[in-house]
Amino acid sequence: MANSYWVEPDLKFVKQLVGLGGETLKKCYQCATCSVVCPISPDEKPFPRKEMIAAQWGLKDKLIGNMDVWLCHYCNDCATYCPRGARPGDVLNAVRAYSIREYAWPSWLGRIVIDSRFWLLLLAIPVAIYLVLLGTTGHLNIPEGHIHFDKFFPTLFVDLIFVPLHMLWVPLVFGIGISRFMKDMHKNAVADGRAKRTDLNIPDFLKYLVCTLPVILGQFKFRQCITNKDRDIAHLLVMYSFIGLFTVTGLFFVALYILQVPGPYSQVNPVKILANLSAIALFVGILLMISNRRKEKGNMSKGSYFDWSLIILILGLVITGGLTELTRLADWRYICYPMYFVHLVLVFSISTYIPYCKLAHLVYRTLAMAYSRYSGREPC
Ligand code: SF4
Ligand code: SF4
Repeated sequence: MANSYWVEPDLKFVKQLVGLGGETLKKCYQCATCSVVCPISPDEKPFPRKEMIAAQWGLKDKLIGNMDVWLCHYCNDCATYCPRGARPGDVLNAVRAYSIREYAWPSWLGRIVIDSRFWLLLLAIPVAIYLVLLGTTGHLNIPEGHIHFDKFFPTLFVDLIFVPLHMLWVPLVFGIGISRFMKDMHKNAVADGRAKRTDLNIPDFLKYLVCTLPVILGQFKFRQCITNKDRDIAHLLVMYSFIGLFTVTGLFFVALYILQVPGPYSQVNPVKILANLSAIALFVGILLMISNRRKEKGNMSKGSYFDWSLIILILGLVITGGLTELTRLADWRYICYPMYFVHLVLVFSISTYIPYCKLAHLVYRTLAMAYSRYSGREPC
């Protein structure tokens, strides 16, 4: 006798998916065209048709922790061919946003980061922290003389805020989310018959993680897409510029605290060159993303708050970073110092909220792709 499944529709969950950008989910009539045309979907138990019916019925347990939701690269080949105008890519993107929120710790922060009503409050938190810090230490003014950031926002303050954020907060929050996600993903895949192995052996899993990294670094999955193939360039630029900027931050930290070489550094310093090239690549990459999303070719999503909040945050980060650098070189201190303040507000926002925003997909999708190989769903 076939296994029975007790269907418990969660209408609140359906409503939340609609609110997160999956408003077309009700249009699907289960023709399965999307699963056939998806270039990434495997032959056995393909996606996204089965996820569409799960979303329509509000079957949360079939979607949260479902590795296939993360294997989708949101290329929208499926939306191009869907005869009903249902947009499976948008629906899976909404499920991913909901999942990030579900795995977030603390959960209230996860909820407000993806809620458009709270964007001002989220930016106000770092503003308030900085104003109190600078005000109580006598730094809340535009210093006289040549521009030196240490006179306005001492490097010690920057490090006291960002080192714990990057080295404790982000790993802790991601660690909790990853642990919850891995357990759910394994349980879901075993229950659904998509995992060929029923054990979850983490040291073994790490080997599959390593063999997945070249696929991600080369964006090979995204390149299989047809409709929005040009999006891979923007993704590559953004991904490598973030890697470049993280490398630069680490190298400057070593230069300052271990080698005792304080800035400002020359523009021909190799690390500075890497920083500038990464910033330019990030700017170009994010502009390409915006242009792709605004095209609306009928097959390209305009995106939800979940997508746009990150794009706008990164754009703001690059613009304020670039203007801070240019006004410093021009010695325009009345523009440079306030611009630096705004830049640090945005750096705080992206650093603190990274485990709750769209950027977290880098972590969850990487794990799902590795698990797909570990579980025998696709070869390594
Ligand atoms: S989303 Fe569209 S293509 Fe996919 S099963 Fe539903 S109606 Fe068919
Ligand atoms: S958006 Fe692309 S990867 Fe995702 S289900 Fe549709 S065709 Fe497949």
